[in-house]
Amino acid sequence: LSEDLANKIAAGEVVERPASIVRELLENSLDAGATQISVDIEKAGRKLIRVSDNGSGMSEADAKLSILRHATSKIINEEDLYKIGTMGFRGEALPSISAVSRLTLKTALKDAEHGYEFEVSAGQVHAPVPVATVGTTVEVRDIFYNTPARRKFLKRDSTELLHIVDTVTKLAISHHEVAFTLNVNGQATVGLAKASDARERLVQIYGAEFMEPLVSVARDDGPLRVSGFVSPPSGLRETRRNQMLFINRRPVRDPSVAHAAFVAYDAPRGLHPVFFLFLELDSDIVDVNVHPQKQEVRFSDKNGLYRFVRRAVGEAVRLIPDDGGASAYGEHAEALNAGEQATYGVTSFNPASDTQYPAPGAGLSYGGVSESMPAGFGALRPEVPFVYLGETFVAYADGQGGINILDHHAAHERVLYEKFLAGLKLDSKRLLFPRQLELSKKEHMIVLDNLQMLMELGLEVEDFGGTSVVVRAVPEPLEEADLRGILADTAEALIEGEKPGRSVMESVAARIACHSSVRGARVLGQEEFMSLLDQLDEADNPEYCPHGRPTRLRFSLDELKKLFKRT
Ligand code: ADP
Ligand code: MG
Repeated sequence: LSEDLANKIAAGEVVERPASIVRELLENSLDAGATQISVDIEKAGRKLIRVSDNGSGMSEADAKLSILRHATSKIINEEDLYKIGTMGFRGEALPSISAVSRLTLKTALKDAEHGYEFEVSAGQVHAPVPVATVGTTVEVRDIFYNTPARRKFLKRDSTELLHIVDTVTKLAISHHEVAFTLNVNGQATVGLAKASDARERLVQIYGAEFMEPLVSVARDDGPLRVSGFVSPPSGLRETRRNQMLFINRRPVRDPSVAHAAFVAYDAPRGLHPVFFLFLELDSDIVDVNVHPQKQEVRFSDKNGLYRFVRRAVGEAVRLIPDDGGASAYGEHAEALNAGEQATYGVTSFNPASDTQYPAPGAGLSYGGVSESMPAGFGALRPEVPFVYLGETFVAYADGQGGINILDHHAAHERVLYEKFLAGLKLDSKRLLFPRQLELSKKEHMIVLDNLQMLMELGLEVEDFGGTSVVVRAVPEPLEEADLRGILADTAEALIEGEKPGRSVMESVAARIACHSSVRGARVLGQEEFMSLLDQLDEADNPEYCPHGRPTRLRFSLDELKKLFKRT
């Protein structure tokens, strides 16, 4: 293979999407000892990815070498491969990236009079030009310009951007002593000053409120060390978001370690802890050279590590004073406190048991629904068989021979509407990245006049000059909703004012509920569906959505008999 072709092939493994480039470049900056790293992104990375650092920089000769395949300053012999202390070690990133983009490298050694700028395209280095610069800046333009097939695999800009933000965030979490900025299309999106420890960094990102209830984990068993923060037993959630694992400061996925943290709670399936776990393992017991993008690792003693994590988390969550049974898990925590030592969790590790995939054969008679049915869910409450009919309709048995048809959008609207009106019942969530929105002049004025009311509904909005606002917190169900649409609709409801039989607040709540409820054709999972039914049953007015449309139709067995002329 020609060098160019070999690099293109290698690039297929290393450079999956713009975020992989961001990760590789950040890793290089961290390896170079940078304390300040900034990332600039244009068009979700398709047009430009630029990473600048204040690290060691490179000499002219090293810089030339750095874009050759298998050129690395981080390991020399095979032995080094078993005690890797850097993020990179394969010498593959720069050549792979330059094989599928137009790359510019600007770098200067710490005390050098000046640095050099190199242009690289299709693996060819052009003659360096002396420039004044500090540290290293790598600019990557037009990714995949010469590999159109790969370009087609890129997802929507918003998706690619999300991966980039995720990459920057994770590396920032495991490197709290480094300042990070991320600018997207010229707008500051992440700005993290140096933090004094991991908790401070997490507070910078998630806010003090989010971090406050989390419990610290710390355990040192010689070659295995862990620190971090986990949910208290009363703070489990229905999602596995915010579970992050770092091994020797590398963000990695590892279902076994995640499962160990989960079993430490001895919680029902379907509920998950938040965790940020930082594992420090002696480099001879972990192999980081198993995944092209270094996102997975292999351990010499997987079971030992599993027990270690389970114990560390189990100990940490048991230190929590009982919360008086505020939730079902409070009770459980008490039992745990009183319980004997060393019986953490009950299950032995079985990776299949905690995944979202259906158990073999589970609920297959319900067609599409089984796909998202969590295994083992039946242990919590009896399942209601249901069938997704299309659009927003779901049919389910009433248990007495009759049938109900639910409009899940209308039902969800009703549930959210009542929660919004009840104010505090919804968790308001600080957005990781406050959203800036452009409104019309009129909308802007009205919204500003009603900030207090929006706050009561869980929406924290602030003036941002001109006709724009910044949204800093939203009720949990609105996290992914169209915030601009919500504010515009809210303004409209405010302009309309009071209506017969309905206060302004009620009109606004109805509009917000409509935006945040499950939209259009979507198959609900068993758990989602059951929770919707439960919540609907608890509503004050379960039969109608806030616009007055029915949420469900019922046909009892008697009615069915009549319809079939069997009486
Ligand atoms: P690896 O990181 O596996 O060594 P790379 O292709 O990512 O391979 O980088 C090649 C080499 O270029 C590194 O070993 C390092 O010496 C040098 N290098 C890359 N980026 C930087 C940087 N930001 N600052 C200083 N040196 C760098
Ligand atoms: Mg590297």
